[in-house]
Amino acid sequence: MSGYRGRFAPSPSGPLHFGSLVAAAASWLDARAAGGAWLVRIEDIDAQRSSRAAEDAILRTLAAFGLESDEGVVRQSSRSALYREAFERLERAGRVFGCRCSRREIADSAFAGEATRRYPGTCRDGLPAGEWPRAWRVRVDPGEIGFEDRVQGSCRQDLAAEIGDFLIARADGSFTYQLAVVVDDAAQGITDVVRGADLLGSTARQIWLQRLLGLPRLRYLHVPVALDAAGAKLSKQTRARGLTPADAARLLPAALAFLGYAPPAELARAPVAELLAWAVHAWSEGDIPRAAALPAPADTMPSSREISR
Ligand code: GLU
Repeated sequence: MSGYRGRFAPSPSGPLHFGSLVAAAASWLDARAAGGAWLVRIEDIDAQRSSRAAEDAILRTLAAFGLESDEGVVRQSSRSALYREAFERLERAGRVFGCRCSRREIADSAFAGEATRRYPGTCRDGLPAGEWPRAWRVRVDPGEIGFEDRVQGSCRQDLAAEIGDFLIARADGSFTYQLAVVVDDAAQGITDVVRGADLLGSTARQIWLQRLLGLPRLRYLHVPVALDAAGAKLSKQTRARGLTPADAARLLPAALAFLGYAPPAELARAPVAELLAWAVHAWSEGDIPRAAALPAPADTMPSSREISR
């Protein structure tokens, strides 16, 4: 095994859909092509949206697609102590402040989405007497953070200008995706992050946290996000069709095609393992479309009957 360590980190808020299958397959293929290890990490940090049933379904479906973790599956819900330790290190470095902004303002700047609004710094200089924080933010400095994405190319973001100080913890004692993902990638010795381009906009925040915590820098490869017929990202919210183990033989070729592969005709009906073995040899990041998003194949959409329900 080489030093390469990759991961697929699904949030168990619903079944795997075509877009998450593409991300899983890409990270697995990149790891295998590099002779490295591939890990599955369950990102169930948001307890309200996560379920054990969804987690089981995701793992079963991944297995049917031939994608199985090389090490025990790790769950974020059991790792709060690690996140707390990182939080306290940032606090000791004077990088954390409490924020009492409204739920709505906090929700707006909570996740990765490209539509994130810049936090204007309302609570940066302290809270008025008698006010309690609803959340904690990490301070960012002005200046661009740049990284070379292996598919999307040169990316840069000025966090102070575009995002502002961002959330790392909430008053209920929970930690945010941005903090947890950085802590976990480092703790698991991940070297390469391969995931959907919807998370391109989170990468600079994650690099910022890596820097503040003195953690190793990672390599990044963001694959195009799969869009439905209306141009929306496939997700539970847009009612993307959930995949089941029975979809493997039909949709693995579709996922490979989405990633720029053209499997030879004689492999069209090959077993999953055979198709994957071929794909590892054929893997080339240069063939992956350099786009943030692309339409998903039509048969990964809900049927008209499902839509009308
Ligand atoms: N859990 C995140 C998601 O399902 C992915 C996190 C990551 O790959 O960094 O969107």
